Amino acid sequence: MNARPAAALSPEISHWIGGRRTPGRSGRFADVYSPSSGQVSGRVALAGEAEIDLAVRAAQDAFASWSQVPPLQRARVMFRFRQLLLDNTDRIAAQIASEHGKVIADARGELTRGMEVVEFATGIPQLLKGEHSENVGKEVDSYSLRQPLGVVAGVTPFNFPAMVPLWMFPVAIACGNCFVLKPSERDPSTSLLLAELLKEAGLPDGVFNVVHGDKAAVDALLDHELVRAISFVGSTPVARYIYSRACEHGKRAQALGGAKNHMVVMPDADLDQTADALMGAAFGSAGERCMAISVVVAVGERTADALAERLAPQVRALRISHSMDEKADMGPLVTAAHRARVVGYIDSGVAEGAQLLVDGRGFALPGHEHGFFLGGSLFDHVTPAMKIYREEIFGPVLSMVRVADLPSAIDLLNRHEFGNGCAIFTRDGRSARQFANSIQVGMVGVNVPIPVPMAFHSFGGWKASLFGDHHVHGPEGVRFYTRQKTITSRWPAPTSGGADFMMPTMK
Ligand code: NAD
Repeated sequence: MNARPAAALSPEISHWIGGRRTPGRSGRFADVYSPSSGQVSGRVALAGEAEIDLAVRAAQDAFASWSQVPPLQRARVMFRFRQLLLDNTDRIAAQIASEHGKVIADARGELTRGMEVVEFATGIPQLLKGEHSENVGKEVDSYSLRQPLGVVAGVTPFNFPAMVPLWMFPVAIACGNCFVLKPSERDPSTSLLLAELLKEAGLPDGVFNVVHGDKAAVDALLDHELVRAISFVGSTPVARYIYSRACEHGKRAQALGGAKNHMVVMPDADLDQTADALMGAAFGSAGERCMAISVVVAVGERTADALAERLAPQVRALRISHSMDEKADMGPLVTAAHRARVVGYIDSGVAEGAQLLVDGRGFALPGHEHGFFLGGSLFDHVTPAMKIYREEIFGPVLSMVRVADLPSAIDLLNRHEFGNGCAIFTRDGRSARQFANSIQVGMVGVNVPIPVPMAFHSFGGWKASLFGDHHVHGPEGVRFYTRQKTITSRWPAPTSGGADFMMPTMK
């Protein structure tokens, strides 16, 4: 992707500011591709400081009245929005698939998971209920409530163009904030569909805005004095940068980063079921999921041999096709550059001595030779020192590491830089309990390969997978997008008792 001047013929993907599509002013654009064909499908406007300022001010103007709308009425907007998402599922899923490349069935699934956060946000009157204590002192009452922050921003990755923004803005808006979304410039169009549906649902103009762009747009958001909080999801180096720069400016920040999710397979596991679970978890969405399993840790040599025997033919048999093929298991990668990066990792695994059981590098889809396709790859005998083990690949590549016992597996996971998700497959409750208790990872599955929490729980990893104190959506999302205020009140009889200079205590 190269930023280039505005001269191309492809359609412009504009911003959404103050309730309408707003063309870019910076004169900078980036190509957007259809990964299945490899062709440019549009050019997205890249915002500069001026467009960011326009969007933030539109949000700030809307905040005065939106924050005063009763929570029940804000919830009703979310009810209507949820229905519109349901009515438009096929249209939105097709949009996701065309720019991201994931297969259409997977795109529908992404939208369903996002819609669940909208459903959670419809419960906002209950979620914002405060606490009240009567008579904390003589005739003194105390109550706590949560108020919105103001203008809050979200910066999101390419791999879930609907679901990740939906993790953020339904909760933020239902809490009474106004939102500026900066989606990935690689698949930007879905966010505009969401904006149109929010307007149709009755959301006042300016409460939700979309600005497209790259680092320049993100920096302008980070530096804008009216932006009170930033939610970020993306790679770890950018997450670390966003968290520190936002904090430097006194903003609240939650920055979710990359992952290297391990699945530990015990010798007593049902290996047929385990292999099936691994296939979906490693190769679904071509491995471009932050909760994808990219490392399988086989406990014992026999477990490893038996797993390799089951996995290799399944990886070779993956049905890889264009993203509108309903029967496909996985589609292309998002861009040619990302495909080249993943191929580079496979080359490096071979060079470092891992055993490449299945090599996806030669795959081509007849009729789609320019698409960004890559076959599934499977490595065995991967060691912790190898680059393919240490770094996030974010593609259809599964690595197997062999260990002797469960403590060695736990130690391996706990020494890894990332701590987003992990899983154990076993029939033994005691092993599962030991694993779940001692693992330094935020989301843990027991015989569940991708343990993504439901919308009414909160999503987030540990270590280099999350910077900040709050996970996203669920109760932590409500806490992140609100501030607590505690009011202590007394309505004395009209007589004066004189001044009291001591620390107030209960007498
Ligand atoms: P990315 O970090 O390249 O980009 C994410 C966002 O940050 C985009 O909007 C992009 O425009 C912006 N950005 C990129 N470089 C920037 C910079 N230098 N300064 C400021 N902003 C910048 O991530 P991606 O490639 O779009 O997405 C894939 C990554 O996201 C993977 O690492 C994946 O693990 C991670 N991810 C994590 C989660 C999670 O929940 N932890 C979920 C989804 C994706």
